[in-house]
Amino acid sequence: MSIIYCSCCNEKIVEGEVRWAEEETYCDDCFGEIFTHCDHCDEVVRRSNAYFDDLGNAHCSNCWDEENDDECPDNPYVDEADRKLIIELSRNWLLGKQKKRCILKINQKDYLLSRIKERIGLVDQPIYLFGLQDREEYQLYVSSNLIDHVKEFILLNGLDWKVTEGIGCNRIGVSYSIRQNNFAELLRLIKSISCVQRVAA
Ligand SMILES: [Zn+2]
Ligand SMILES: [Zn+2]
Repeated sequence: MSIIYCSCCNEKIVEGEVRWAEEETYCDDCFGEIFTHCDHCDEVVRRSNAYFDDLGNAHCSNCWDEENDDECPDNPYVDEADRKLIIELSRNWLLGKQKKRCILKINQKDYLLSRIKERIGLVDQPIYLFGLQDREEYQLYVSSNLIDHVKEFILLNGLDWKVTEGIGCNRIGVSYSIRQNNFAELLRLIKSISCVQRVAA
């Protein structure tokens, strides 16, 4: 059995108490000092990158932007999916088409999410994906409008993923272990949600 060390203080961590963030392992103390959770979507955020409101609650940059949407990224990163979107938008505009497809919104810094975004490409149904650390209670944190679909997928595929209903609309938080160990299934789940035009409830 391998021994896990905290990437910050280098102490050994008892199995079951390892905290994951940004692809590194942390002990509980160091994790708490360096990271916090977004008050809105529960995503792990580095305290130095978090936005704090007047009440001292932390927000991830995505939620903060949504709430105070007057900011644009200074230096947006363009990948294959972004490129396809730009081409399709231009083409549709030239053809006078209205129908819009879009790309997944992801937290760029989270482990494996940019690979999912690139692999999925253009989607009919926009969703926002972000990373969660592993927890006892849940591994997926899913907005209520998607939760039935997600539960059905888990059931049909015989997976033992734990799901909790999250806030907002079209948002999915995915634990580190699912991203790490069930990448193919996760990809299929995201595809099944985002690439089929679902009937609005
Ligand atoms: Zn530590
Ligand atoms: Zn957030």
